Amino acid sequence: MLRKSVADLAPSDLDGRRVLIRVDYNVPLAADGSVSDLTRVRATLPTLRYVMKNGGRPVLLSHLGRPKGEVVPSMSLAPVAPVLAEELGAPVRFVPSTDTDDAVRASTELQPGQVLLLENTRFLPGETTNDPAVAERFARLGDVFINDAFGSTHRAHASVVGVADHVRPAVAGFLVQRELEALGGLRSGGKRPFVVILGGAKIGDKIGLLETFLGTADRILIGGAMANTFLSAMGASTGQSLVERDAVALAGRFLAMGGDTLVLPTDLVVADPGAPDSAGAVVVAADSVPQDLAALDIGPESREAFSAIVRGAKTVFWNGPMGLFEKPGFDAGTASVARATAECTAAGAFTVIGGGDSAAAIRQAGLSDAVSHVSTGGGASLEFLAQGSLPGIEALDPA
Ligand code: ADP
Ligand code: MG
Repeated sequence: MLRKSVADLAPSDLDGRRVLIRVDYNVPLAADGSVSDLTRVRATLPTLRYVMKNGGRPVLLSHLGRPKGEVVPSMSLAPVAPVLAEELGAPVRFVPSTDTDDAVRASTELQPGQVLLLENTRFLPGETTNDPAVAERFARLGDVFINDAFGSTHRAHASVVGVADHVRPAVAGFLVQRELEALGGLRSGGKRPFVVILGGAKIGDKIGLLETFLGTADRILIGGAMANTFLSAMGASTGQSLVERDAVALAGRFLAMGGDTLVLPTDLVVADPGAPDSAGAVVVAADSVPQDLAALDIGPESREAFSAIVRGAKTVFWNGPMGLFEKPGFDAGTASVARATAECTAAGAFTVIGGGDSAAAIRQAGLSDAVSHVSTGGGASLEFLAQGSLPGIEALDPA
């Protein structure tokens, strides 16, 4: 699994050379087409600055959205060029293609101190199928390859995997390296007690995580809609709660395997699922959700119990909100777990948040900087924790 990183490159690998960097600029765009959140752009600055400081000329490839192999003007990367220039304090040229002679010419004309940003890789049908011909054309754009797109590293796409067959050295950027260090530490267990918090909507996406952590975690706290499926497997009345029917039997097997490791909520906040309004919300025992209501958050007793366990942890991994945290009135469970995670971080624990909605939840609680690491990759971080590696990592030079 160990791979070379940009810090392992020799000065001659960078000085004066075209450095092809796969970044993840899959940024949200506002109605007027401007970039509405700069997190992903900022996350790439350490690698860009390092490459430029060492005389490298960065050529950037990224996808944005799901244009499905066609040119979709609303998914152009053009709006990213001015904001990147501003953040980096260097000129950024944008060329509206990736696999053309124009793009190659722009890469060779690029001067030290300048950056070239190319168009959305997914405008080409061969990107997501990892077409070797497309990968070869991407490879013409650089003399060295760096993958700094952690959020795309679980995808075997031409700009992530195939391109590394044709450009050497091929190494991990600082963002990818930081992610691998944080998540790799969790895979190997870390300091105990090791507490995992799982929530969110779909068990289907998280079976691998449960399997990984049942062997290593001291406690796995289960909240959010995921808890409903487990409660259903225990024979509870779940009313109108979101329950994943196909996964109830599996949840039952995890319960049998997990013993005391699995911790479920003992009370729940329930409301009318048609018009979830915190004014009409009530707290009920976890096994008796009324027929016409749905569980939308963990209750106060569970909040306390979960927070106490988290506060005692030395290592925490959290994926999946404890409730419908986007709605005021159903965010208390998520907010308490966020606070408890921040508190144990302050007391010296190593704490990692994974998953897109979970990252949004910790941001909403204003505590992103109070935990050890917030992963930038939703699916990628979960897949890495379940599998121990990712296609885009395997494609890089061994350390
Ligand atoms: P992540 O992106 O962090 O992996 P998920 O995508 O699995 O998390 O789940 C997040 C979603 O789950 C949120 O939109 C949240 O509102 C929803 N959710 C959590 N608990 C419940 C619940 N009890 N009922 C309905 N939706 C829920
Ligand atoms: Mg999500």
